[in-house]
Amino acid sequence: MVGKHAVVMGGSMGGIVAARILASRFDRVTVVERDTLPAEAKDRRGVPQSPHAHALLISGRQKLDRLFPGLTRELISGGAVPFDPGCDLLFHQMGALRTRFPSGKLGISLSRAYLEHAVRARVRALPNVQVRDETSVTGLTGLQGRVTGVVLDGGATLYADLVVDATGRSAHRTEAWLRDLGFPAPKEVRVKIDVGYTTRLLHRIPGDRLKDDGLLLLMSAIPPHDKRAAAAFAIEGNRWMVTLGGWHREHAPVDPVLFEKFATDLPFPHLSELLSRAEPVDRGEARKFTYPAARRRYFERLRTLPAGYVALGDAICSFNPLYGQGMTVATQEAMVLARCLDRFGVRSAKMARAYYRGAASAISTPWQTATGGDFVYAETEGPRPLGNGIVNRYVRQAMLASHVSPDVHEVMMDIQHLLTPTTAILRPRTVARTLLAARRSPAWRDATAPSGS
Ligand SMILES: Cc1cc2nc3c(=O)[nH]c(=O)nc-3n(C[C@H](O)[C@H](O)[C@H](O)COP(=O)(O)OP(=O)(O)OC[C@H]3O[C@@H](n4cnc5c(N)ncnc54)[C@H](O)[C@@H]3O)c2cc1C
Repeated sequence: MVGKHAVVMGGSMGGIVAARILASRFDRVTVVERDTLPAEAKDRRGVPQSPHAHALLISGRQKLDRLFPGLTRELISGGAVPFDPGCDLLFHQMGALRTRFPSGKLGISLSRAYLEHAVRARVRALPNVQVRDETSVTGLTGLQGRVTGVVLDGGATLYADLVVDATGRSAHRTEAWLRDLGFPAPKEVRVKIDVGYTTRLLHRIPGDRLKDDGLLLLMSAIPPHDKRAAAAFAIEGNRWMVTLGGWHREHAPVDPVLFEKFATDLPFPHLSELLSRAEPVDRGEARKFTYPAARRRYFERLRTLPAGYVALGDAICSFNPLYGQGMTVATQEAMVLARCLDRFGVRSAKMARAYYRGAASAISTPWQTATGGDFVYAETEGPRPLGNGIVNRYVRQAMLASHVSPDVHEVMMDIQHLLTPTTAILRPRTVARTLLAARRSPAWRDATAPSGS
């Protein structure tokens, strides 16, 4: 054991995976969550993104399985839909569908609420973890260069050897508390993208598939003129989850007629066909969520770090949700934290420094992929990654090549699922295949026409 007591602020995906790794390193772990945590898989106020399409990347699923053995099997037996991302997912990108092939990889499609519920149940079953819901953290206590605990809304203090801040995007409140204790705030970078999600649920007849035999559909825009995005996922409970929206205020309306019109206007028939035949859940009520900017806080660059405190998950970096990376990266950070605690213990700020370095390297690739992609739009504001123009021109070719080349599709898929580094796209074999195949794409002419370039 590296310490007696650890406190986790926030009981969402980041907080729960953190609690799991802390449980085997501390005598006691307390998770403090301000929401009432539902006994079943239900959306809740503190996670307003919960009713919307959440993709669990394959590397995230694999990591969760390592932390919670048998989780994938349990989720599938509870209704999560297993799929092969090479052939069951219709990926419409840059004006055409990616070519399909059996990849042999296993994805699972499920609602965010169901995933969080299942993982939380596993953590709640750990004998040394206490989850205190309906309780807010309202401050931090500290002494001589370290954080020593959290103050709760009733005024009580919970002392701890380690406080993990998993309060998500509301972590700016913690920043003020840390400042009060004399610790500097990390530099924050924002990339303004004005993304909007509008989601409806439909009943799914068991075994039903989308037109062209898909279980899932993802559509990303044809930049820079088209900013729309769409997803349709078969999920547990015999339901379809349909999310429509896009970048820079290209948002789908909640009104059912206008929602269906948005789907009908997409450059493929699959979603309008689904909406025309599947019965809506909840009388077709749609939910909307807007996400103005991706945010990253650079703790690793701070000269002075408090001992006894680390941030994790969206509290460090909140990614453009359209890339589906947040839960996977939060899990990866929890694993980095485990390694740093084992190596440095909990006493000194060395542990926190090593952790933020490790977290930064877990964040770096998905952050660059997401923000790099976002800068195809002139409206995106923020620090643009170096060499972004050239990279985006090449990625465009690779997207076109994935319409006809299973090899290029597979490399793109592995990068998106964080199974391989982004540099895989620059391997000579992939570059050669990309350049040869891109011109054979059915969308080549449209995508390379002057208005679309
Ligand atoms: C629209 C949308 C779609 C997304 N889609 C995907 C996807 O497809 N795939 C994916 O991997 N990720 C996705 N994400 C990101 C994903 O939801 C987050 O990365 C993930 O939830 C991890 O976040 P977190 O636990 O760090 O913070 P959050 O999920 O924001 O949770 C913070 C928790 O802290 C609690 N809290 C806050 N303040 C206090 C306090 N003072 N005291 C006590 N408790 C507090 C809140 O109630 C909440 O439970 C999406 C995000 C959005 C916005």
